[in-house]
Amino acid sequence: MRIARIENRPVLLCDDGIVDIARASGGRFGAAPTAPFDDWPAFAEWAAEIGHAEEPLGDRVLQNPVPHPTQVFGVGANYLAHLAEAGASAPDVPLIFTKFPTCLTGPFDPIPIPTGTVDWEVELVVVIGVRAEHVRPDDAWSHVAGLTVGQDITDRTMQFEGIAPQFSMSKSLPGFGPLGPWVVTTDEVADPDDLELGCALDGEVMQRARTSDLIFDVPDLIARLSAVCPLLPGDLIFTGTPSGVGVFRKPAVFLRPGQELTSWIEGIGEIRNPTIDATRRAK
Ligand code: ZN
Repeated sequence: MRIARIENRPVLLCDDGIVDIARASGGRFGAAPTAPFDDWPAFAEWAAEIGHAEEPLGDRVLQNPVPHPTQVFGVGANYLAHLAEAGASAPDVPLIFTKFPTCLTGPFDPIPIPTGTVDWEVELVVVIGVRAEHVRPDDAWSHVAGLTVGQDITDRTMQFEGIAPQFSMSKSLPGFGPLGPWVVTTDEVADPDDLELGCALDGEVMQRARTSDLIFDVPDLIARLSAVCPLLPGDLIFTGTPSGVGVFRKPAVFLRPGQELTSWIEGIGEIRNPTIDATRRAK
């Protein structure tokens, strides 16, 4: 199943349109953005019985499907080819940071560009459905509600200035976390551990890889993270980006206002974000 958000309400997407979750469930699952994930097993069971849409999608805009997670984890340097382009070798433990949730935005929203060193990072994003605490890798997928496409937009200057790298700050500016276009449950993809992902800037492919190349895969990340922080329903894990980011190109390439960044994952979908001058950003 696919869970999206339209007009600030969570909806199920069917082939022939949408179902408003709060209305169709008679209020059993609410209209809050996190409602589908708050009681995931019950919701998944209810939603599996929904066959047909109530109304067409029409020209309504899909919004960020998970706009207010409690925790957003990011993973740096999690693909070997990306490490190689950065001149680093494989780590023993994952590099974890946070994206502060106010950076999250919708699948077709503009990305404000405040400096000349803003870069792209397409990533598989995991949405937690069941509280996970000290979970074993072989039990990790059962705690996942679904998957979505994310961009871990980063200001490279801010990332590396100061006495130590500032991953969390440099990746949390307004609009630096496009997400969507919906959350897809793992039963809808052929192999959740092996999905092609990529992104293109103005139609030119910049990144293309498979999630089977992750150094720390989704079960491993959930095990390691949940050994430190309980993972809560609706929490997000940005699992890391493959090679092909702008900063390591020769010469380096960065996002400029007036471009379009397209990001996709096999079996999930595609998000499309125009870049705009940050001074034009709506408050
Ligand atoms: Zn990243």
